[in-house]
Amino acid sequence: MNYTRISINTATPAEARSRVMIIYTGGTFGMTYDETGVLIPFDFSLIKEQLPALRNLFLEITVVSFTQPVDSSNISPEHWKAIGEIIFENYNSQDGFVVLHGTDTMAFTASAISFMLPNLAKPVIFTGAQLPISQPRSDARENLITSLEIASAKLNGKPIVPEVCIYFDYQLLRGNRAKKVESMHFDAFESGNYPVLAKAGVKIDYNVAAISTPSGGSLKLLSRFDSAVSILKLFPGISPSMVEAVLNTKGVKAVIIETFGAGNAPTASWFVESLKAAISRGLILLNVSQCPGGMVEQGRYETSKTLAEIGVISGGDITLEAAITKLMLLLAEFDISGTRTKIGVSQAGEMA
Ligand code: ASP
Repeated sequence: MNYTRISINTATPAEARSRVMIIYTGGTFGMTYDETGVLIPFDFSLIKEQLPALRNLFLEITVVSFTQPVDSSNISPEHWKAIGEIIFENYNSQDGFVVLHGTDTMAFTASAISFMLPNLAKPVIFTGAQLPISQPRSDARENLITSLEIASAKLNGKPIVPEVCIYFDYQLLRGNRAKKVESMHFDAFESGNYPVLAKAGVKIDYNVAAISTPSGGSLKLLSRFDSAVSILKLFPGISPSMVEAVLNTKGVKAVIIETFGAGNAPTASWFVESLKAAISRGLILLNVSQCPGGMVEQGRYETSKTLAEIGVISGGDITLEAAITKLMLLLAEFDISGTRTKIGVSQAGEMA
């Protein structure tokens, strides 16, 4: 991946109080019209002119931009690797990071980055916008300014939010708990199973009890992913051939079964037998609910008891975005049995 790098001191002539790195990957946020009316990526060297309020944050900002900004529908593990490496390599020189990313797959990337950086002790704040920064009613300006403020916020010399988050529409959410839930209005993200970490109003109110505490170890970077994963989304009337097709996908090592409600699935013998056969072939089957809130409780209903009995692993209250990225990373780091042991255990606050 190629980058350009620029430094902007928003504090001059005063002294900068913090250093924050912005990683610009693309998405709606940075789109602007050139003189001929064509949409082109925003020129970050003009950011002080676009956002005069930046001066009041007294920051030394380094912007690292992907040379080819991407719509986040085109994001891949290669991009996660690049973002993780940029954070890892610049970790000691920065107080925090803001990642500008398209909203469509932001929750996947934020989840991936949270698993890639064990022992993270500094803020990594993802944000973006529903309307380009060049538009008069754009949400880009507020999202960026507040993300920068959160990324540089300290209490008694320590970062207030030492974890991977998504900041959007006045709310700070844990990144691996968030989901995109809205494509037209500004309130694009929610974390149904975890409290909001901060609300931005007249001041930023941090929910200190919900924010993670760093482990104290030194930062590590895990940057390999194995894409041998798939998703089987259940629906009433799903056919045996559809189920078999997913479970027998060539090379697949783990399948997320997106179940109903508290982790329920059909009890029809053909369905149970298909799952059993997949497990005996060595496949990892993970039960993740289609509900954005609540959790999988295998055994609560008759329709999930069998799943537990045949060896389907409960995903608890994990999101689909966190589950798929966690599986991809675990499969690259460990063998099947190591992945099976770790998948049901919280790695970065993604599940209870
Ligand atoms: N399609 C865009 C993206 O995810 C949407 C956005 O940025 O909000 O890159």
